[in-house]
Amino acid sequence: MSCFYGPATYRRPVYPAMGDRPGAQWDMHRVLVLNATYEPLNTVSLPRAVALLLADKAEIVEAAEARLRSQHIILPVPLVIRLVTYVRIPRKLPLAVTRRGVLNRDGYSCQYCGRSLPSAELTLDHVLPRCRGGKTTWENVVASCKSCNHRKGDRTPVEARMRLRRQPFRPRYLALAVVDLPSAWKKYL
Ligand SMILES: [Zn+2]
Repeated sequence: MSCFYGPATYRRPVYPAMGDRPGAQWDMHRVLVLNATYEPLNTVSLPRAVALLLADKAEIVEAAEARLRSQHIILPVPLVIRLVTYVRIPRKLPLAVTRRGVLNRDGYSCQYCGRSLPSAELTLDHVLPRCRGGKTTWENVVASCKSCNHRKGDRTPVEARMRLRRQPFRPRYLALAVVDLPSAWKKYL
């Protein structure tokens, strides 16, 4: 199941509208992925979760009341899915600072203004700017919306009079590092 960590190669299914929610909502919804043993592994986007379900690689553990509807499928909106096949976890999780890891840790929200945004609208900000010696470490990189990042520029938060909503930290496990955990996830973490 190494494909789980690899690039998404599934053909993207056709998405029906979910009630009257705008399409952007699809990008915001994160689904918790459990290993076959129910250990939390990661979070994935809704399209990715649906692809895993449709490929019979995962099953729904918790779902919302809302349904995804299309000509061929009616599927509850997954909140928590479980992989059918056990994925072996490397003993030491690779915890290199990655864009995805930081966004996951910060709950896909700007750490300055607090707005929740889709991945494409978030940037990584070096709290102590790189040009001032700031390193790319978990403790110095946060998710930031484009306008906050632009406003902060090459300044420290103090100089820019911008307050971090939370001190960045190195997560123990990426799956556990999400800020606002949906209540459906809590019993698995
Ligand atoms: Zn912002």
